[in-house]
Amino acid sequence: MSDIGVVWIREDFRIENNAALSFATQNHNYVIALYIYNNFDYDNKREAQKWWLSKSLEIFKKDLSNYKINLQILKGNELDVFSKLKKKDKISIYWNKVYEPDVIAKGKKIRDIFLKNEINFKYFKGNILNEFQEVTKNDGTPFKVFTPFWRNAEQKYINSTPNKDYKIKKCINSKLFFKNCIEPKDILPKKNWFKKFENYWEVSEKKSKNILKNLLENKIKEYGSSRDIPSIEGTSKLSPYIKHGQIHVGTIWKKCNELKSKGIGYRKYINELGWREFSHSLINYFPEFLKGNFRKEFDRFPWVKNEKFLKAWKTGMTGYPIVDAGMRELYETGWMHNRIRMVVGSFLVKHLRINWTEGEKHFRNCLLDFNKANNVAQWQWVAGCGADAAPYFRIFNPILQGEKFDKDGIYVKKWVTELNKVPNKFIHKPWEMELQYQEAIKTIIGKDYPAPIVVHEKARESALNAFQSLKKK
Ligand SMILES: Cc1cc2nc3c(=O)[nH]c(=O)nc-3n(C[C@H](O)[C@H](O)[C@H](O)COP(=O)(O)OP(=O)(O)OC[C@H]3O[C@@H](n4cnc5c(N)ncnc54)[C@H](O)[C@@H]3O)c2cc1C
Repeated sequence: MSDIGVVWIREDFRIENNAALSFATQNHNYVIALYIYNNFDYDNKREAQKWWLSKSLEIFKKDLSNYKINLQILKGNELDVFSKLKKKDKISIYWNKVYEPDVIAKGKKIRDIFLKNEINFKYFKGNILNEFQEVTKNDGTPFKVFTPFWRNAEQKYINSTPNKDYKIKKCINSKLFFKNCIEPKDILPKKNWFKKFENYWEVSEKKSKNILKNLLENKIKEYGSSRDIPSIEGTSKLSPYIKHGQIHVGTIWKKCNELKSKGIGYRKYINELGWREFSHSLINYFPEFLKGNFRKEFDRFPWVKNEKFLKAWKTGMTGYPIVDAGMRELYETGWMHNRIRMVVGSFLVKHLRINWTEGEKHFRNCLLDFNKANNVAQWQWVAGCGADAAPYFRIFNPILQGEKFDKDGIYVKKWVTELNKVPNKFIHKPWEMELQYQEAIKTIIGKDYPAPIVVHEKARESALNAFQSLKKK
């Protein structure tokens, strides 16, 4: 085997449970980690994630140096970079898989280049519990409904050989191979928007382990109920770490299963990991999922184009406090609570009747945990056009959602500070306060905070009519 092993890092910024990195260090005297930054995937599409990526590279570089491994970063197209490698370079390349159809397609082209240029390569299971091909119905066809999918997938995972303990060996000495490298800071977004994220997130593998420990010791018991309350940190907030591979889902699953008492919280949490597996299965079996409505009748849906409403939604100025709080949380922190993602999503596609793809795009640009499979599958779930989706006629009432899940308005007041003086009774419908009272508390609706851009009952009716129109043809 060649002297140098190159590990192509994509979404696996971790030392623990990293199959490709482990294999390279066990089989080569010198190992280099390579990241290829393809700005086409990020510019004007995934601005928030540039920050997480840059931080991931910076920290991982330090972590790897303890093993005498250099992390080198190139800017460009993966195919161009790899086609320059030749047999005489005497290197072998390893990577962990990423489960997105276009990434898989590119991977096939890269494998062809390596075969042609006689470069040794090997790839490993990525950040997933089961390879998607392993989970099918008895007749070999893919599942389209979550519950039977997960029953089958979880059992399959339990029955499979437990994850090996992938150990990393320290290399003899560090080496450099690639020229014209860039630094992690070169990836940062041009706008200073990202600077706020530093107040909310610590990007490292170590931090993800601490978060998991805290979840298991302090949160998982109550997860079943607290996961729906946006004012408390009832969920793990591990999603951006999972996306970038600071932690492997197999590690999370294993630690959860070491719990002595496994109650409803444990069950619910594991099910969420199941939804992630389900989304990945869907987009790989049905790649058209990523391009448009899974349920084709929605191609005829009378979506409304309304830039003013879309802007109000994006900037958290719809006049519905729970929706606005969510949109502002997203912009400020790069993350939004799951319950609120469902509420704001429903508001966009049902109250405003704006195509879900607009919401998907905005989330993609702002979410630190953006992940193609989860984002598209969840947007289609919200819109009612996905597999096993919430029916379109089930329309979230943003006032009742607020009253149920943010009873005391703590979440709303945190993000929509102009409503700080509004009493709980009105916090989710401030427009119902008498004008005299609005004046007394210096919170005039329509001036200090917007009046609702649509009336709930009317918007609901229009949405239902639009949905009915699908059935007529
Ligand atoms: C419209 C919409 C868009 C979404 N876009 C994304 C996205 O781009 N990336 C993303 O990771 N999640 C997305 N989700 C799913 C979910 O909101 C987030 O995974 C969750 O809020 C992350 O927070 P957490 O880590 O605290 O979750 P926890 O409750 O702690 O859950 C643990 C893990 O399970 C997975 N998970 C949880 N809920 C879901 C779900 N509904 N579907 C799939 N996986 C789930 C995540 O990996 C999460 O980190 C979206 C949901 C909606 C409604």
